[in-house]
Amino acid sequence: MMEQVLTIVVPCYNEEEVLPVTIVQLQQLLNELINERLVSKQSKILFVDDGSQDRTWELIYKEGLRNEYVRGLKLSRNVGHQNALLAGLFTAMELSDCVVSIDADLQDDIKVIREFVLKFYDGNEIVYGVRKGRDTDTLFKRSTAQGFYKIMEKMGVDLVYNHADFRLMSKRAVQELERFSEVNLFLRGIVPLIGFRSDVVYYDRLERHAGETKYPLKKMLAFAFDGITSFSVSPIRFVLIIGLVSFFLSLFFGVYFLTLKFFGNTETGWTSLITSIWLIGGLQLIAIGLIGEYVGKIYKESKQRPKYIVDIDSFNLPKPRHHLLNQTVEDELYNLDLRQISETNN
Ligand code: UDP
Ligand code: MG
Repeated sequence: MMEQVLTIVVPCYNEEEVLPVTIVQLQQLLNELINERLVSKQSKILFVDDGSQDRTWELIYKEGLRNEYVRGLKLSRNVGHQNALLAGLFTAMELSDCVVSIDADLQDDIKVIREFVLKFYDGNEIVYGVRKGRDTDTLFKRSTAQGFYKIMEKMGVDLVYNHADFRLMSKRAVQELERFSEVNLFLRGIVPLIGFRSDVVYYDRLERHAGETKYPLKKMLAFAFDGITSFSVSPIRFVLIIGLVSFFLSLFFGVYFLTLKFFGNTETGWTSLITSIWLIGGLQLIAIGLIGEYVGKIYKESKQRPKYIVDIDSFNLPKPRHHLLNQTVEDELYNLDLRQISETNN
């Protein structure tokens, strides 16, 4: 079989601290794979800069100038991990047979990529990387993440347990993914819906190599909430059931209070009245809030906004001639108005 073209997609948001190490390690791995004739020489590493405020793009861009295996994609602003990943997958798809997605922080064991590729040659269209344990995560991260999977399962969302976005997808699988045109895209829930033959590779999760997590609690909660509400209607069904229950309860109590009144025992009015006002009011607010959540989602979907916008693709930039490739020229090139260059190239 001919060697297949692999692209490793790496979303990066403010990763200047870890990126130099990541580039070297991924490059080494790719060299090995190419030398073993596992993947084609056309294989690439695609770094997606998700609107970083630090030197992330500069690092990617410069590496792309001197390294034919590195391609950089600069998004016009920060669109979040999932959308940055999509930008990378859809861009990489055109020139590859299979695509591996991995975080920039080297928490996922890159050696596993070799096994991904082997499983791909075995005929799998999707290969999931699954963490064996979470020993390196803090207790807090571990328990919140586990709670997340549990809740998602209860809500009926089909997830691969302990699988983050470290996976291989064939070109065909990514093409099918592109047909999911929804804006609230929760990849971990969508990818299993694609189907096809798939397999799992287990690995140990390492510690973040450098820098800090870009997923503080607030973002994690938002992520979990998004995941649930874009995949499941059970919260809204839950509200309906509570509504029904409280309705029948109030009928029951209505009858009860009426009997009390007729038998002359009406002193107890105020407390129960005020309590039920608060109770019903609260229930109504919850219900309205939840409905609003779904209406908001419909609102977003109906606009069909693009999920990301590419600012610069390093493949479209003019390559400086080799003998000119020294620090000063690079810096000059970098300082040019890159937008103009990419426009003239499109
Ligand atoms: N990331 C991104 N855009 C964002 C936030 C994060 O592209 O808005 C990238 C980040 O650079 C990293 C990956 O998504 O490569 C996962 O982020 P992180 O490692 O901080 O998350 P954690 O592993 O702590 O859940
Ligand atoms: Mg991480």
